Amino acid sequence: MTIATHTYQNLIGGRWVDARSGATFDSVSPANHDDVIGTFPASGAADVDAAVEAARAAFPAWSLMPAPKRGEILFKVARILAEHKEELSRLMTREMGKVLTESRGDVQEAIDVAYYMAGEGRRLFGQTVPSEMPDKFAMAIRRPIGVVGIITPWNFPIAIPGWKLFPALICGNTAVMKPASDTPACMVRFIELLMEGGIPDGVVNVVTGSGGEVGNAIVEHPDVRVISFTGHTDTGVEISRRAAETLKRVSLELGGKNPIVIWEDADLDLALDSAVWSAFGTSGQRCTAASRLIVHRSVHDQFVEALRKRVAGLVLGDGLDEKTDVGPVINDKAVERIAAYAAIGRNEADLVIGGEAARDGGLDKGSFFQPTIFTEVKPDARIAMEEIFGPVTSVIPVETWEETVRIVNSVKYGLSTSLFTRDINLAFRSIRDFDSGLGYVNHGTIGAPFGGTKATGNGHREVGQTALDFFSEWKSVYIDYSGKLQRAQIDMEFIDQEQV
Ligand code: NAP
Repeated sequence: MTIATHTYQNLIGGRWVDARSGATFDSVSPANHDDVIGTFPASGAADVDAAVEAARAAFPAWSLMPAPKRGEILFKVARILAEHKEELSRLMTREMGKVLTESRGDVQEAIDVAYYMAGEGRRLFGQTVPSEMPDKFAMAIRRPIGVVGIITPWNFPIAIPGWKLFPALICGNTAVMKPASDTPACMVRFIELLMEGGIPDGVVNVVTGSGGEVGNAIVEHPDVRVISFTGHTDTGVEISRRAAETLKRVSLELGGKNPIVIWEDADLDLALDSAVWSAFGTSGQRCTAASRLIVHRSVHDQFVEALRKRVAGLVLGDGLDEKTDVGPVINDKAVERIAAYAAIGRNEADLVIGGEAARDGGLDKGSFFQPTIFTEVKPDARIAMEEIFGPVTSVIPVETWEETVRIVNSVKYGLSTSLFTRDINLAFRSIRDFDSGLGYVNHGTIGAPFGGTKATGNGHREVGQTALDFFSEWKSVYIDYSGKLQRAQIDMEFIDQEQV
């Protein structure tokens, strides 16, 4: 039985339109595949061309609007999002599965960043620099870049578009957005609300459709100057390669294989709460999920038994049900991938709990996987090295600090690392020695990512001040009021000698 359908369109130049081809695809709930959230345009390159043209046409007026005025629009957007927080959260849980409390957090992140970037409209500071020449003024100012392509994943379907879009807009850019094909409804509703806030037509455009069609067309378009992407590392590499053809600026936020280290002196209750939340929150589908628990051998048995008990009590189900602790994974393909890793894990390590898709108790219509723990996992086992992106965590016993640092840093990713200890010396060593973009002490690995090292990205950082650097072009400006030709570095030497 189909529960509900609604047909949605692309947003191009302020008008809601179908894909040129008329092709469509459905978004279905991972908790119940009979629940069709809506039908969306399966767009292609022609739709992307139209969206980029609309963004290009809107750029002059938007980029010339004083930044504080752009900020006022973002303030209004933030307020509208806050008014619709519950509606957006419920839609998110229905479309991508995370439990309602987590969806509320996801929407709140977008609201917070909207307020934050709105405030930046009153700053967007440049720099004044003392000139080495007399009677000369030197400064550096920020300029908007142009059309920004924003390509986002399904796991934070409102927070991540917000993190990227709001700094891009406050800096004076216009945007073409492509949501993940698993969560187009979240993006479309989010953008509808943004437009209510008074964002002018064409400043933000949305094109739904596949990565291969819409994503590639955005990345390859010569008039898109910047790509901001979050997703899988392989996709990021592919995007980087294609974007190089047109010398685009590219920010990549990619995968993780994040460890929590639980040392012999740790507060084990706190470490347990944090491990359960970090490993199984969002069904393990966070880039910052704790998929490795590196546990000191002296507390290993006690910790693993306590973890097993807690995980045995977790309730799987529809995220809209308040009793649910762990929602579905995103789709059946994900269930297959996680099951394949669980099978690998059985050969590599000891299964503590879980390891199977979950179908009993009314879960047969959705995509569910049991929360799964392996222990006695070798640091170089596949389940300890590769991003599984599901509710599976690997316990790796350790005995020395040197071994721990080596294992923490042995994976190709470097997103988030965490240490539970009461030893201040070790805490500071972890900050210095764990190779990651995010470091936590006595807190789990999950939280807002700002970017990572190694295969987690290409060196950019999101959400904070650094986002403004990514979305603006620095221009150095010199005003010479000496009334004569002053040749920097050449006449300077002459002045130096004269003074000597
Ligand atoms: P994904 O498969 O790489 O997809 C991400 C986005 O890229 C989707 O919109 C996808 O479209 C699009 N895409 C796919 N192929 C493309 C191509 N060739 N060119 C342009 N766009 C393309 O990743 P995902 O499964 O949605 O997300 C999970 C991954 O994201 C995990 O690896 C996770 O660690 C990472 N992640 C990282 C962060 C961070 O901040 N570091 C945060 C969240 C998630 P379709 O949906 O149409 O395929």
